[in-house]
Formats: sequence, structure tokens, C-alpha cells
Amino acid sequence: MSEAWSKEDELGIIDMIDKWVENDVRPIAKEHDQQDKYPHALAEQMKELGLFGATIGQEFCGLGLPASIYAKIVMKVASAWMAPSGIFNSHLIQASAIERCGTQAQKERFLPRMATGELRGGVALTEPNAGTDLQAIRTTAVKDGDEYIINGAKTWITNSLNGNSLAVLVKTDLDAVPAHKGTSMFIVETKDAQGNFKPGITVSKMTKLGYRSIDTCEVVFENVRVPAANLVGEKEGSGFKHAIGGLELGRINVAARGAGIAQGATELAVRYAQERETFGKAICQHQAIQLKLGEMATQVEAARLLIEQAATKYDANERCDMEAGMAKYFGSEAGVFCANEAMRIFGGYSYSVEYDIERYYRDAMLMCIGEGTNEMQRIIIAKQLIDKNKI
Ligand SMILES: Cc1cc2nc3c(=O)[nH]c(=O)nc-3n(C[C@H](O)[C@H](O)[C@H](O)COP(=O)(O)OP(=O)(O)OC[C@H]3O[C@@H](n4cnc5c(N)ncnc54)[C@H](O)[C@@H]3O)c2cc1C
Repeated sequence: MSEAWSKEDELGIIDMIDKWVENDVRPIAKEHDQQDKYPHALAEQMKELGLFGATIGQEFCGLGLPASIYAKIVMKVASAWMAPSGIFNSHLIQASAIERCGTQAQKERFLPRMATGELRGGVALTEPNAGTDLQAIRTTAVKDGDEYIINGAKTWITNSLNGNSLAVLVKTDLDAVPAHKGTSMFIVETKDAQGNFKPGITVSKMTKLGYRSIDTCEVVFENVRVPAANLVGEKEGSGFKHAIGGLELGRINVAARGAGIAQGATELAVRYAQERETFGKAICQHQAIQLKLGEMATQVEAARLLIEQAATKYDANERCDMEAGMAKYFGSEAGVFCANEAMRIFGGYSYSVEYDIERYYRDAMLMCIGEGTNEMQRIIIAKQLIDKNKI
């Protein structure tokens, strides 16, 4: 069983993350983002900080952090630079699928190595023709003795180049009705002991608008053999459930990244508005700018409170898909809104790569797309609302 985290522990860990973000993350953000360069040093520091095991249970060598503390960490990192939070966020979604749905043997085999960062990666769900509609995936796994043979192509897969492990959603029965009953999830260790991709796995990095530096790639599987023991839960047909079962934590996670961008952009705007003068006074003294800052700060706080509400329910083991959906929707939209407004406050300088604000603007939109698009979030919220208020 995991030991509970006291308020004092929480303050200690948040203080440690604050120092790391200010000393090591913020100073390298601009250069790495502009050169689309992977922050290897940060990934090593994440190992030391225990971030690869942040939400993994203590019985499997993780920190066992509750979602409420984890969300604060993510928000802090994203307030300086959103991209590196993806290195441990996507990794922990994979770990969460194993911890929730894996057999005891799978948990013991994978989780301690994932907690140290020896094994690290993400989830491979999306395909060129299937994102929101995951039941339409075409990647297959066919049983052959003690192994399965995987064939297919995944796209937009984060951590697939620098990581060495992926939770891959496949079809094990193409004719199943409904289609999701034909899906399964495999843990694929993608590299050999020398760090080379195993035969049949091809990974190609994609060039992106934002969320740069982090490897998001196309991953092709050609006759890739995986031990049957790597089928999550060792039972075919539950892959879709394994994938969407982790979405509550995933959405809290993305909400925190969006809220972090909102907070960071607001902080930059508050500072710039006091430095920049027009018509003989700092622009923060113009009411038009004050209206923007007032709205931005309110959105940051509202996002924070929605995240706290969803995380508190999640930590109490209560169903929170509606609250997590609201937090994800609002937090990510707050990121886009605040980055946009900050761009206007920076005027022409917002367009200069000398300033950080353009990065927040490029990074923000992704949070509206990942972990279920914001269109889908509102549909999920509405369905819950109607279910709970049936007449
Ligand atoms: C930088 C980046 C990193 C990513 N990392 C990963 C990763 O690590 N692993 C992974 O598996 N995937 C990853 N993704 C993929 C991401 O999860 C998908 O892009 C997302 O799920 C949306 O799918 P799609 O792009 O196919 O859009 P589509 O599903 O084609 O949707 C297009 C539009 O139609 C809307 N829409 C679709 N269906 C409905 C409906 N029923 N009702 C109303 N509106 C609907 C959507 O809201 C959207 O507006 C990443 C994407 C990006 C851009």
C-alpha cells in the first residue's frame, strides 16, 4: 500500500520542483524549442527527481503521488515550458494502464523499471485514419505460439524515438461486434540492450508547430514479434477499455498543462505590461490592457479550481469523468485564451522569437486536441448531465 502524502511533504516536493523549473527548465526552453532539440539533460534530472514514477504506486517503487499533487507539478513545469511535461506525462499514462489493467506479474515486471526511467515511453493509439474514433484502428496482432506478430502504422506517437517502450493498441479480432471488443493492448519494448530499434520497428520524427523538442513520431510495425506475456491483462478484447480507462487522470494531466500555459503567459504579460510604455505611461495603466489581465488571471484561477475539484474526486476513488472533462476543456481553452491575449499585450514583439510568448502561443492549441478533443469533452459533459438529470 502507498503511504499518504502529508501537507508538509507536498510543500517540500512542490518547492523542489519550483527550484528545478527555475534553475534548469526555464533557462533552456527557448533554445531547445527553437532548435527542436531533445532536452536529454532534463530527462536525466527527471529520473533523479522521481518524476518517471510520480503516480506509480510505492509498492512498485514509484512515489505514489495523488493526482492533486501531481497536477500541481505538471502545472508548474508547463508554466515555464509545456513540452518537457510530455516526457513523463505520456510515460505515466502507459504505466497507469499497466497498474490498472495488467496482471500482477506484468506490474512486477514493468512498473519498477518504469518508475526509475530505465523503461520509458508512452502510448500508441492514434493511426493515420483513426484518432477520436479509436475503434477504427487497423494495426493487427496475430497469435503465433507464445508470441504475437504486430503489423500496422501509428502516428503522432510521443516519446517513441527517445523512449524504449510503448503501450500499443491493436486489433486481435477484425470482425468483432462492437468493434472495440476486438481490440487489445500490448506493451512493446521497442529497443534492444544497445538502444537500437528492434527488427521491424521504424520510427520517423514529425515536424510540429509547437510542442517542439519532444519526439512525436510515426511508428511502423512490420512483423514485430512480441511475447504473449506482454498482452496487458493477458486477455484479448479489452484494449479499448484499457486505453480509455486512464483518461480521467490523462485529462487532469492535460488540464494542468493548459492551466500552466495560461499561468505562464499571464505572468509574462503582467511583467511586460509594466515595462512597456505608450503615451507616457506603462501600458498596464490603460484600461484596455487591465481588462485583458483581469480576464486572464480569472481564467487561470478558475482552471486551477476545476483541476483541484477533479483531482480531489479522483484521489477519493470517485468517478470523475465529468469533472475531469470540464477541467480538461476549461484548462486547455484557458491556455489558448491567455496565450492569445498575452500576444496582443506584447504587440509587435509577440511576433519576435526573442520573446518567449510566441512559444506559449504555439504550444497552447495542442491541449485542446490531446486526450480527447474539446468538442468531444463537451459532448461527454452533456451526456453525463442528461444521465444525471433524467426526467
Ligand atoms: C503533438 C501531438 C502529440 C500526440 N501524441 C499522441 C500520443 O502520444 N499517442 C497517441 O496515441 N496519439 C497522440 N496524438 C494524437 C491525438 O490524440 C489525436 O490527434 C486526437 O485524438 C484527435 O484525433 P485526430 O487528429 O485523428 O482527429 P479526428 O478524430 O479526425 O477529429 C477531427 C475533428 O473532428 C471532431 N470529431 C471527431 N469525431 C467527432 C464526433 N463524434 N462528434 C463531434 N466531433 C467529432 C474532432 O473533435 C476534431 O475537431 C498526438 C497528437 C499531436 C498533435
